[in-house]
Amino acid sequence: MSPRSVRPLQLRKSPLHSPAVYVEGILAGNRTLLSQAITLVESTRPNHRKLAERIIDQCLPHSGNAIRIGITGVPGVGKSTFIEAMGKWLTNQGHRLAVLAVDPTSQRSRGSILGDKTRMEHLASDPNAYIRPSPSGGSLGGVARATRETTLLCEAAGFDTIFIETVGVGQSETAVHGMVDFFLLLMLAGAGDELQGIKRGIMEMADTLVINKADGDNLTPAKRARAQYKSALHLFPPNASGWSPQVLTCSAMQKSGMDQIWETVHSYLDTTRSNGFFQRKREEQSIYWMREEIGNRLNDSFYQKAEVAEALKALEKEVREGKLSSFSAASQLFQVYRKS
Ligand code: GDP
Repeated sequence: MSPRSVRPLQLRKSPLHSPAVYVEGILAGNRTLLSQAITLVESTRPNHRKLAERIIDQCLPHSGNAIRIGITGVPGVGKSTFIEAMGKWLTNQGHRLAVLAVDPTSQRSRGSILGDKTRMEHLASDPNAYIRPSPSGGSLGGVARATRETTLLCEAAGFDTIFIETVGVGQSETAVHGMVDFFLLLMLAGAGDELQGIKRGIMEMADTLVINKADGDNLTPAKRARAQYKSALHLFPPNASGWSPQVLTCSAMQKSGMDQIWETVHSYLDTTRSNGFFQRKREEQSIYWMREEIGNRLNDSFYQKAEVAEALKALEKEVREGKLSSFSAASQLFQVYRKS
């Protein structure tokens, strides 16, 4: 058999349906069709992408009703324990929760972020929760796009709360911040910010800091850290949202503090819905992702042109040797692109 005739596993396992089949299934809350549609969203194959776009367009009028919450913090801070505790607390209250992740370093086989559902074993078996690991093996741009589109599909499937987890290092925070309504930073007491690898920029993005592991001997240090972070946050420039970030404590292990966190999320929603920030932010996010998509497509279309690839090799050599400036080389490449 030639390699061309080998069909990918996903296609063999589940033949493609028409967009209407996925859309009706998603709207009826069918998890199998939801998962299959997400696989299409994550795929880079052009026919999958086209189908995914049609599904998303038809789901769009049914999306947007969930609260989107980003959750970050360095490895070990207790993200999965927290998501499980908060998640169970929410589903016990009748909520339907989808848990997604953005981790561009994720390789499912290595059991990284959310790749291993045993990290949230109670939530994984909860009929009112849906856990989807980070799409693996892509660039941050690709992973972020897929997660944003997955959010829309999960909303159309009736999930009213979406958690998007990311690790507290690198650029993925900015991407997640750009796709959620509320951004929650989990922290530890007793470790300096530097030690926790938390950059000031990430703290500035947070709508609420939650100091986890406030239990046992750690309770007093957690309360002290809360007071310190509270005063540190006063030094930050005022927020465009009209909301002052809060500092809370919790113990994900003992499942305490969940009610205050949820109250805080609601108080944020009340503030930002009544001053118009909530809607404005969502609109800006949609425009941002449209522009990102345009940028990505232009980039792909540029580098995929054979003429550009050909000219690139020669021009890069000249730039390296200092015979041509980077700007002139780029300009020449654009001429090649336009003519091709
Ligand atoms: P993640 O890497 O951020 O997802 O962190 P995990 O949820 O895997 O937790 C890392 C470790 O911290 C595990 O051993 C957890 O049992 C522990 N842990 C998580 N939350 C708490 C908590 O509230 N209190 C205590 N004492 N330990 C916790």
